[in-house]
Amino acid sequence: MTMPNNNDVSASSDSDTNVRIRNAINELHVRYRDLHEGAVADYIPELSKVDPDLFAISVVTIDGEQYSVGDDGHMFTMQSIANPFVFGMVLDAIGRERVREFVGVEPTGNPFNAIVLDRTTHRPMNPMVNAGAIAVTGLIPGDNPTDRLNRMLATLGKYIGKVPDVDSEVFMSEKSTGDRNRSIAYLMRNFGTFVRDIDEVLDQYFQQCAVSVTCRDLACMAATLAAGGVNPHSGERAISRTALRDVLTIMYTCGLYESSGTWVHGVGIPAKSGVGGGLLAVVPGKMGIAIFSPRLDKQGNSVRGVRVCTDLARSLNLHLFVAGDESVANEDLAQGVNHG
Ligand code: GLU
Repeated sequence: MTMPNNNDVSASSDSDTNVRIRNAINELHVRYRDLHEGAVADYIPELSKVDPDLFAISVVTIDGEQYSVGDDGHMFTMQSIANPFVFGMVLDAIGRERVREFVGVEPTGNPFNAIVLDRTTHRPMNPMVNAGAIAVTGLIPGDNPTDRLNRMLATLGKYIGKVPDVDSEVFMSEKSTGDRNRSIAYLMRNFGTFVRDIDEVLDQYFQQCAVSVTCRDLACMAATLAAGGVNPHSGERAISRTALRDVLTIMYTCGLYESSGTWVHGVGIPAKSGVGGGLLAVVPGKMGIAIFSPRLDKQGNSVRGVRVCTDLARSLNLHLFVAGDESVANEDLAQGVNHG
């Protein structure tokens, strides 16, 4: 028998939904604020200085309603959360066929910073891990490095509603310690999949990783992706629908490093995490979700971020292959299936 599902955000009025979102994030903040598992990233020295207890959850709906709890105004660096946005920018600038000459779309079971290329094509596996992200950064159009940086910041600004800054200390910290990324870039140049000056591209990659945002900003960015590419606060289009499809697809299959399979199995929505402690998730046609909590698991994902999203997906019935299907959602809840 199909029972009405009071948790399904797709099956309720706007005001009910909004109350449920607000209650859910407040409860989850309380549930996980004493969780201290994981460790902050310290391979970029500046990141190790962050207060590990910071914790924020923000949601922006496609109508522009914003819900937030915790340290939602604290600035932190996007790190590889910038990757899908730069990927989208480059898709729109030079077209998907050209981009595919430089980067694949296959999930990787390797760590995000693996010095590995696809064995057959010699391209990086996908644009969400470092190798692919660096290759994509190398495709940003522009007349010179400053022009390219400004274009990238302007694009991110469309999602946020204002042009963001680069945290120069985090940038310099990664630039001075980023030999692993340098190795990846040299490997790509060896195979002819790198067209620009290595130092220039790496500088820009380190700058994009060091873009500073708040959890509220990140939720607005996610909501823009959820709203067909249009920022729900400003009404400005940030990405074409065609590029958006590719961005969400890659986020879905590759967004959480080597935990991407576990993520789609348990949470089931496109997402991207970064070693700065941010995690962004997109519920297409509904809302953007962001969590900031700097303690990371072994794969580099925010521990609290993953827990919060897993619980939120369950309580609001967000998994893409369950959303709207009341019987499945109820059966799932009744049987206590563990998504995690
Ligand atoms: N800037 C970081 C690096 O290149 C980004 C890693 C991440 O957030 O996945 O190592």
